[in-house]
Amino acid sequence: MSGLLSGALERNRLEEELLNQSIRDPLTGLHNRRYLMPRLDEMLGRSNRRGTGAAIIVCDIDHFKTINDSIGHLGGDYILQRFADILVSQTRSMDVIVRFGGEEFIVVFSAVEHGDVRQLVQRILEAVHEERFVFNDTDIPVTVSAGVAAIEEFVDQPATPDALIARADDRLYMAKQAGRDCLVDASGTLRI
Ligand code: GH3
Ligand code: MG
Ligand code: MG
Repeated sequence: MSGLLSGALERNRLEEELLNQSIRDPLTGLHNRRYLMPRLDEMLGRSNRRGTGAAIIVCDIDHFKTINDSIGHLGGDYILQRFADILVSQTRSMDVIVRFGGEEFIVVFSAVEHGDVRQLVQRILEAVHEERFVFNDTDIPVTVSAGVAAIEEFVDQPATPDALIARADDRLYMAKQAGRDCLVDASGTLRI
């Protein structure tokens, strides 16, 4: 291959890698907040036009500070990675999974019926219950709380990315208040 061509290919590869790094969280490999906002905007736009459903969950690992305190920061990182794997295995490839910050994650479910969302989130919490999180031969109890918001709930006002996230976030707060290890959506609290 000519030096010129291979140089161009190498630059192309580097550019792609840089782009990928800028939209991914290095610890979990999930997408990051920067990737989420334009995608969510696009997905909501499509749902609004077509009248199809969409929903998001904001979920957060319970008492993560205590987990870090008991098994250290590296142990905490390991738990984050394992939870990210659960999210990937419990969602479809068209869903967007994001590490939104520390131990907080967002999943955007596109083309989903309102009534089905609760079951999807329930499955994620069930999978966390069923998973054994073992670090340095120690079983670590892990639970997660989640707030859910669906585009269909927004009838008088447009479902903007910020409004949808804010509503799901309020419900996550309610789930924490309700004792954690549960989900809160428009119809109330569900404990697994
Ligand atoms: P709650 O049940 O209310 O969510 O309590 P919490 O302890 O999970 O929440 P809090 O916000 O008090 O603590 C979150 C902790 O997450 C604090 C921070 O040090 C830790 N954290 C944030 N990012 C990372 C990370 O990348 N790796 C590890 N190991 N810890 C992290
Ligand atoms: Mg937490
Ligand atoms: Mg948190």
